[in-house]
Parts: sequence; structure tokens; C-alpha cells
Amino acid sequence: MVVMNGEPHTEHPTDPQGAQYAGGPGPGGSAFPRPEKVDPITGLDLVAWFFAQTQKDHSFYPLHKSTITFFNVMNFKTINQRFSYQGGNAYLCKFRDELKRLFEGETVLRAGADHLVVISLNLSPEEIAMRVAMLNKVMGNYEGGLRNQIKAGIYIADGTPQKPIIMMDRASLACREVHGIFNKDYCVYDDALKNKHEQKQYVLDHFDEAFEKGYFHVYYQPVVRALTGKVCGYEALARWIDPVKGIIPPFIFIDVLEKVHLIHKLDAYIIEQACKDLRDDIDSGYAYEPISVNLSRLDFELSDVNKVVNDAVAKYDIPKEYLVLEVTESAIASDLTSLGDHIKEFRDEGYQVWIDDFGSGYSSFNNLQTYDFDFLKIDMNFLRNFDKTPKSKVIIASIVDMAKKLGIHTLAEGVETKEQYEFLKSIGCELIQGYYFSKPIPLEDYQNKRAELCSFETNESPEERTYFDCIGEVNFLDNAPLRKHHLEVTSDIPLAILERTERNYTGLYTNKAFMTVINSFGANTIEDVVRILRRENTQETMDKIFEHLLWAEKSNEIVEYSMPLNENKINCKARFVGHMGNKFAYMFVVRNITLRDKETTPSKNRLQF
Ligand code: C2E
Ligand code: CA
Ligand code: CA
Repeated sequence: MVVMNGEPHTEHPTDPQGAQYAGGPGPGGSAFPRPEKVDPITGLDLVAWFFAQTQKDHSFYPLHKSTITFFNVMNFKTINQRFSYQGGNAYLCKFRDELKRLFEGETVLRAGADHLVVISLNLSPEEIAMRVAMLNKVMGNYEGGLRNQIKAGIYIADGTPQKPIIMMDRASLACREVHGIFNKDYCVYDDALKNKHEQKQYVLDHFDEAFEKGYFHVYYQPVVRALTGKVCGYEALARWIDPVKGIIPPFIFIDVLEKVHLIHKLDAYIIEQACKDLRDDIDSGYAYEPISVNLSRLDFELSDVNKVVNDAVAKYDIPKEYLVLEVTESAIASDLTSLGDHIKEFRDEGYQVWIDDFGSGYSSFNNLQTYDFDFLKIDMNFLRNFDKTPKSKVIIASIVDMAKKLGIHTLAEGVETKEQYEFLKSIGCELIQGYYFSKPIPLEDYQNKRAELCSFETNESPEERTYFDCIGEVNFLDNAPLRKHHLEVTSDIPLAILERTERNYTGLYTNKAFMTVINSFGANTIEDVVRILRRENTQETMDKIFEHLLWAEKSNEIVEYSMPLNENKINCKARFVGHMGNKFAYMFVVRNITLRDKETTPSKNRLQF
């Protein structure tokens, strides 16, 4: 049996309070398991006892036609830490009550720790899913619950005799599928999952052999400059090419290698391979581009990853700016306190560090605040909804806008269509990676077509890189794009919110730019503006302004008017925003359109014709 982290690989969680699934030696030291019947905390029957009992009295046949739902409380540890064990126990009892209520008439059991199990005979997966959602709603409001999510895995027995413990294992495996996924609270065990787990088991049994026999290979996926369409880099992605199973993709083996604490071995291999391939590229006389490699969170814990990178770079004499380090969101989200030091050390030495899969985890924004990155790779899931909802575009554009304001370059991955490419280019996303250009392909494919794939016509030169990196800093989405990158939060559009009660006007909000405009004609507040307007205009003009506002309200359209004010001329655009009783709110954008004409002394930066 393969040993993972010093423990036999089993999906059975054990109860810290002593309850176990399969039952250890029973009281009195009998050689045969004699599991306890009742869990002292929740008063529920224990799964181990229940399964043993059904086998003993042959009442397990209905089990083969039942559905097993395995529940797991996320971050239960934090409840115990915050509210002590008594608080944790109270939470479990509430959880039990809700399950009994929602699954009335079905069997509710405790499987140990924070795992409860429901064995149902009459519910479809959809009906169970509905109950899981209701459970989360109730438990989300439980005051001692810290909004913990409860995840569920569902296994539907197909009628063939099977060991109950295997059935529950499958429900528990399905549950694990949704552990880190914020917007999913259940998963049904199906053939795809079965396949995946068989593949994972294969990985567990064969990874030593794969390392020894050199089954790991590097595939390279090109990264393209949006503005020019030229290749400006490659991402190195690991592939396991197995003589029996064919190509095993990373999503199968990365997880397993992380679990068995061998991922650093793979990553060191990929880093070395990338440097070796880059050296061949440099020596070939064709164009060569930076290569990025993926670093796992565990690389930082299990190895001196800075040394691993430096050694490989030194061995193949690679300029440091040609090896890029991608650190995934999950890596950054872990509790690793020294990660910031590692990132800083890499950057100080001249490497670029990129944040990968931005937006996929819980703490994307915290990470941007805490660490310094050169590039932000937008998680490809945002593009998966590109055609389904316009929200996707807004979110992607906001990420690009924010990144530029923070002085970070942007790359979008998972680009599959021309429309996606055009959109990303239009919002100023600098680099693009995805099947639209190329899937990851083996090095031999590049070598076979070197003249075509690696020429200076298709690939970026170092001079072009420096040049387009500067151009990439321009924020097409900024309302003041001419301003140089800064960290000041401000808008150059003079904006105010005005509240009208009958014919009285008060200011609710004014921004800095608005104040600059009204200051220019001697007003310090919105009330000042109204006073000046009244003083300088006839009642007829004031009525006109009032009518404009009424029209804005009625039509829900933007109204525009210009008027003289203190020897100035101002242009005003307004939109009705909302009302409460006799209070009506309008949003205003104003411009002093006389200001430019009046200016007599030319500014040193302004060319006069
Ligand atoms: P990643 O770093 O986000 O890599 C991008 C993944 O998206 C790659 O999958 C790539 O093949 C895929 N991809 C690229 N363009 C498209 C597209 O247009 N559409 C779609 N649907 N997918 C696209 P891959 O190679 O299977 O890698 C999966 C993940 O495994 C990687 O995600 C990375 O997190 C991890 N990984 C891969 N190689 C390594 C490695 O050497 N070390 C470590 N630690 N992780 C690795
Ligand atoms: Ca990556
Ligand atoms: Ca990624």
C-alpha cells in the first residue's frame, strides 16, 4: 500500500474523539472489531456500528439500492478554536437536528469528526441537492457557525452488492471534489469521477517508476503580445507520457504529487528542463523568448526553491529575466509566512514573478496588497462565461484597469476565440495565451518547424519587448489616460450629486474635480452655485433649469444645458438618480467651457498656435 504523509492512503477520516468508521478492537480487547453503537456527542448511531449491524443481521440489502450522502463541515477547526469544544459540539448537534428535519424518515449517522452521513431510500439526487442548499442556508445563519459551508458528496448505489464502506468512501470522495470550490456545495459520484480516481490511484502506484524512467516531459504553450500578434514567451507545462496510459494531464498528477510531498522534485526537473531547452534556443540562432515555470506552494516548504532556480540558471547560463516564475493563487493563499521573502528575493535577483490564476481563490486581492508581482494572469474561468454573460467582460476589464493602476502587467489565459482576443486587445490586456493561438506542444514540434515558428517575423525581439512593455503600461480604460501611473484614487470628471426639495437645492456629494470647476467662478459649495445662479439669472431662466430637471426625471435621459455664470460659461449634464418622498436626487457633470478661452498665459507644456 502506498503511504501518504506517513499514513496509509485511505479516504476514511477518523474522529479525534475516538469514533472510527470500521471499528478498532472492541472493549475487552477482542480481536474482532466491535464498534460502539452510539456517538456520545450527537446521540446518533455510528456508521461503523450501523454497517457492521446490517451485515450481521443481513439487513443491508436495501443499502444496495440506497443513496449515501456524506457531509463535511468546512473549516470546522476554526469553530472549535473560536468557541471551544463545547461550541463545536453544539454546532454538531444543530447540524444533526437540521439533517433530521430535512431528511425526515431517512437514516442519519455520524461518521466521525465533522462528518455526518444520510442513507436515503426515496430521494433523488436533485431532491438531496435541494436539501443541501437548505441546510447551508440554515447553518450559514447559525451564530456559532462563522458562516462555515457544509459540503456533500452523493453516491447512488446501483443495486449490485457492494461493501457499505466502499459506498461511503465514494460519497466521501465526491464530497472532496467540491471542498475548495466556493460556489458548489455538492457533487454526485459518477463514471468521470470514478475514472479520475482510478487514474489518481495509478499515479500513486507508478510515480516512482515515472521519475526513474523519464516519463515526465515539458510541453510549451506560446504567449502572444495582443498588440502585435507576435510570440513573446512560453509557459512550460508538465506532461506524464506513460507507456500504458498515454498522456496523463497535470490535473491528475499534480494533486497527488503534492499530497505525497514530491511536487518539488517534479518542479525542479521542469525548471532544469526549461533552462536546458532555453540554452538550446539561444544557441540556435533563432529568436528565443522567456519561459515561465509553475511553482507549487509546497516547493517553498519542501525545497530551497530560490537555490534550485539559481542553480539551474547558472548551469545553463540563462539570463535571469528569461526564466519567469508563476506562483498560483492557492500557493499564495496558504499560511506560508516566508513566501513574501522568497518572492522579494526572486525579484531582487532579476527574475519576474507572476501571480497565476488571479481571481480563482479567496484571497486574490489580499495577495495583491501583500506581495509585489510583475504580471497578473487572469484566471481562465472568467473567459469561460464570455458568451453567456456580459458580466464577464466587466470583471475582466476591471481587473486589467486595477492591475494597470497598481503598475502590474496583465495576461489573459484560456483565450479560445477571435472575439475574446479582440476584446482583450481593446481593453489593453497585454499578453494572451490560449488555444486560439496554440495548445501546449512538445519541444520537438517547435524544432521541426523552427524556421516557421521561431523566426524574428513571428517572434518578438528583446528591443520590441522593452518597447511594448512601456506601451503596455498605458491604461486604455482610465478616464485620465494621459496621467502617468499613480496610486492616487481620483476621477478627473467633475461630478456632483444634487438633491432637490421643491425648488430648493442642496449638495449631497461633490468630487475634487467638481470643486475645481466651481472654485473657478468663485463658488465653494453647491449652495453657493445656486445663490450665484439666482442672483445672475431671471426667474425665467431658473424655471427653465427646473423644467430640465423635471424632464430628466420623466425621460430617464441625460439633459444638457449651458449657461452664463459669473462671467463664465458652464456646461452642465444631468441625470435623474432616484427619489424619496419629495426629495429628488440628480447626478451632475459640469465643465467650465470659458476657462480655456480666458487663459492668457500659456502653460509651459502647452503648445500655442
Ligand atoms: P495553469 O498554470 O493555469 O496552466 C494553464 C492550463 O490551461 C494548462 O493546462 C493549459 O494546457 C490550459 N490551457 C491553455 N490554454 C487553454 C485554452 O484556451 N482553453 C482551455 N480550456 N485550457 C487552456 P495543463 O497543462 O493541463 O495544466 C494544468 C495546471 O497544472 C496548470 O494550470 C498548473 O497549475 C499545473 N501545472 C502544469 N505543469 C506544472 C508544473 O510543472 N508544476 C506545477 N507545480 N504545476 C503544473
Ligand atoms: Ca501557470
Ligand atoms: Ca493559470
